[in-house]
Amino acid sequence: MHLPLFFRTQLLSWAATHVRPMPWKGERDPYKIWLSEIILQQTRVEQGLPYYEKFVAAYPTVIHLAAAPEDELFKLWEGLGYYSRARNLHFTAKHIAGTLDGRFPDTYDDIRALKGVGDYTAAAIASFAYDLPHAVLDGNVYRVLARFFGIDTPTDTPAAKKEFTRLANELLDPERPAAFNQAMMDFGATHCTPQQPKCVTCPLQSKCVAFQTGRVNELPLKSKSLVKKERFFCYAVFNAGADTFVQKRTGKDIWHGLFDFPALEWPARPGLPETRTEMEVWLRTQFFEENSAPAFTVTHISKPYRQTLTHRQVTAVFVEIHLTDDLSAEMLAMKPFSGTLRISKADLKKNIAVPRLIDWYLQDKAGTLSLF
Ligand code: SF4
Repeated sequence: MHLPLFFRTQLLSWAATHVRPMPWKGERDPYKIWLSEIILQQTRVEQGLPYYEKFVAAYPTVIHLAAAPEDELFKLWEGLGYYSRARNLHFTAKHIAGTLDGRFPDTYDDIRALKGVGDYTAAAIASFAYDLPHAVLDGNVYRVLARFFGIDTPTDTPAAKKEFTRLANELLDPERPAAFNQAMMDFGATHCTPQQPKCVTCPLQSKCVAFQTGRVNELPLKSKSLVKKERFFCYAVFNAGADTFVQKRTGKDIWHGLFDFPALEWPARPGLPETRTEMEVWLRTQFFEENSAPAFTVTHISKPYRQTLTHRQVTAVFVEIHLTDDLSAEMLAMKPFSGTLRISKADLKKNIAVPRLIDWYLQDKAGTLSLF
């Protein structure tokens, strides 16, 4: 049998007996497919699933999503990370509800033109919602194809993108693009896995180049690994009775639109003071304008918290500061309080979207008797 036909036939018959039930499977509503695909970008299925259900319940249509306040949407997104996805989701929902009169685009190019939608997501929506013949290409598909065809092109290169896109589209069943794409995704995720693929029971084994040549663990190849830039934050958690101070992150930076505490930042971990007294002296010079510091004591210096983002490795420590006096209006207008929001700690936990790293810190604090 011709190789592409063998691949397609075997894959589809494998899929017929290996059903992976998921709430969005068989879904034809482009809005819900789009929602599930955006949630699943950089997120494991098990982690994304409850978020998908929460979003569909809160915003059953794109019109509902468009009308949602941004802070509410971010709160619902909390814990998923990569908040640019939530921002793009909101932007695109408003664009569809407004400019496109609530009608989801129905051609590949128009879907691809939506903000936050890349080639993979566009192909998934086009095939699942409209049966358009566009093959999906993600890490799973690269791996399956590189192994089965024995392809040596490093998958993180533009040349690979062209080569694998062409091949995946050639293999795609034009009569059943949705079923084929779903089968590819499931096969890569559960059978031809990165570690310990199930070669022994694989229906493609007899013609799989990697298996036949003993290269399963070697393929796919990569040309380089990503070097992550370090960032180090020292957060000042100012506590005034039941309140604390947070600020909304603006500008083109990580965690845009989320809230964090007033912070100092360095490209690497600086030598921080180790005792509370030294820390108090240091904070006066670092956080406050000359002679403007209110009376305060440092009550706790946290352990370092680390979060890995796509291009960044972020580390943060939280210095908890008890403000002993009420802050005057003059102080509130100055660094580090100007531009902050004074909020109760209870509200911070319930209603404010924070980066995951801060959420970890807050969760640790919730386990102690005094919240801060
Ligand atoms: S034989 Fe192994 S490496 Fe080849 S496609 Fe099947 S699971 Fe993947």
